[in-house]
Amino acid sequence: MNSEPDIAIIGAGAAGIGAARRLAGTGLSVSIFDSLPRLGGRAWTYETSAGPVDLGCGWLHSADRNPWTRIAEESGFKVDRGLTAWGEQFRDLGFSKAEREDARRAFALWSSRVATAAPASDKAADALEPDGSWTAYLQALSGYISGDELERISAKDYAAYDEASTNCNWRVPAGYGALISASLPAGVELHLATSVDALTLDERRIVLRTAGATVRTRAVILTVSTNVLAGGAISLPSALDPWRDAAACLPLGNNEKLFLEIVGDGPFAPESHVLGDPHDPATGTYYIRPLGSPVIECFLGGAGARVAAAEGHSAAFERAIGQLVSLFGSSARRCLQPLVASDWAHTPSIGGGYSHALPGQADARVALARPFDDRLFFAGEATHTSDFSTAHGGYESGVRAAEEAINALVPRLRQKD
Ligand SMILES: Cc1cc2nc3c(=O)[nH]c(=O)nc-3n(C[C@H](O)[C@H](O)[C@H](O)COP(=O)(O)OP(=O)(O)OC[C@H]3O[C@@H](n4cnc5c(N)ncnc54)[C@H](O)[C@@H]3O)c2cc1C
Repeated sequence: MNSEPDIAIIGAGAAGIGAARRLAGTGLSVSIFDSLPRLGGRAWTYETSAGPVDLGCGWLHSADRNPWTRIAEESGFKVDRGLTAWGEQFRDLGFSKAEREDARRAFALWSSRVATAAPASDKAADALEPDGSWTAYLQALSGYISGDELERISAKDYAAYDEASTNCNWRVPAGYGALISASLPAGVELHLATSVDALTLDERRIVLRTAGATVRTRAVILTVSTNVLAGGAISLPSALDPWRDAAACLPLGNNEKLFLEIVGDGPFAPESHVLGDPHDPATGTYYIRPLGSPVIECFLGGAGARVAAAEGHSAAFERAIGQLVSLFGSSARRCLQPLVASDWAHTPSIGGGYSHALPGQADARVALARPFDDRLFFAGEATHTSDFSTAHGGYESGVRAAEEAINALVPRLRQKD
C-alpha cells in the first residue's frame, strides 16, 4: 500500500470514480477507499438468473447531456434510447385514462406553482392545492423523485433540478452500475472493504485512519453520502462541523427496489408499466419486462420505501405481489417469484436513497461543496446544485472536486512541498 499518496479519494461511487478519471494522467498518485467490497456505491448492477438488474441507479437521466452516455459509448456499453413506459398504465388497470390525465394536470399545476410562485415557506407541500383530489398521487411522485414527503422538500431545490433536467431518459442494457464500476481508470490504487474511520489534519498532510493502516496524503476528496457525513461514522476535526451541518440539511430520502421474476406465461407485456394504487402515497410503481427481460421492477420512494425497509424483504415482496394481483387478477400470483431487493437504508456506508434539501436549505449544497483549507475537497451527488440525486450529478461533482484539488496541489508540488 502507498501510505503517502498525493490524493486519497474516500468513496468509489460515481463521484469517486469521476474524480479518479479527472486525476488520471496528471502524474499525481491516487488511492481510493471504499467500505463496500465492490465498486459503484449506489450504482450496483446485480447479476440474477433473469439477467442483470440495477439495485441503485438505472436511468441515464438528462441522457442527452449526461457524461455517462459518452463514457458508455466510448467504452463499448450499448445505450438504449427507447422511450420510457412510466406515463402508461397497462390496459388502464385501476387508473383510467381520464384519471391519469387529471392526475397529470394536478402534477403540472403543482410543478408550475413551485417554479413560478414558490411558497414563502419554501415547503413544496405548500404549493399543493388545498384538499386536492390528487395529493396522495403527488406524494407518491415526490417519494420517487425526491425520496421523501413534500412537507420535507425545499421547493427551490426541487425547481433547480426540474429546470436543469432535459427529460431525456435512456438505459444501459448491461446495467448502469456495471458501466460505472467498469470506469475506474488504471493506475489508481484501489482499497475495497476498507472504511476510513478518522481523518485528522497536521500542518502539511491529512492523516486517514483505516482498520489496518494510516495514510498520510496531501489532499482528500470526500464523496460519502450526506447521511454518512452527518452521522458519526467518520471522526472529523471540529473545524469541519459546518460541513456536517450542511450535510444534515441535505438528508437522503428513502428509495428501494424489489425485483420479481416472471415465470411461465403471465399477463405481463414487455416494456409496460402500472402504478399500484394512485390513491396511496406509499404505492409501488411497477416497470414490467424492462427491455424484454423476465422481471418486474418495483420502485418505492418515501413512505413506501420506509415501510419496506422497516418490514423486511419478505413482507415487502408480499405487499408488491398483492398490489399486482389486485390489478392483474389472482392467476398472476403463480407467475411471480421474489428475485432480489435493495436495502440502501440499512447499508451503513450509504444510509438511504438520494439527497434532497429540507425547506429553506437549498443553499446547503453550495456550503457542502466548499473546499476546506485547500486540501480537503467535497464531492458526491448532494454537492451538485442542479443534478443532485443522480449518478451524472455525482460524476460531475467528482470532476469538479478533482479540478479544485489539481489547482491547489500542482503549484505546491512545483515548490517541492
Ligand atoms: C433505489 C435508487 C434508484 C436510483 N435511480 C437512479 C437513476 O435511475 N438514475 C440516476 O442518475 N441516479 C439514480 N439514483 C441515485 C444515484 O445512484 C446516486 O445519486 C449516485 O450513485 C451517488 O453517487 P455518489 O458517488 O455521490 O455516492 P455513493 O454512490 O454513495 O458513493 C459514496 C461511497 O462512499 C463509500 N463510503 C461511505 N463511507 C465510507 C468510509 N467511511 N470509508 C470508505 N468509504 C466510504 C460508500 O460505500 C459509497 O460507495 C438512484 C439511487 C437509488 C438508491
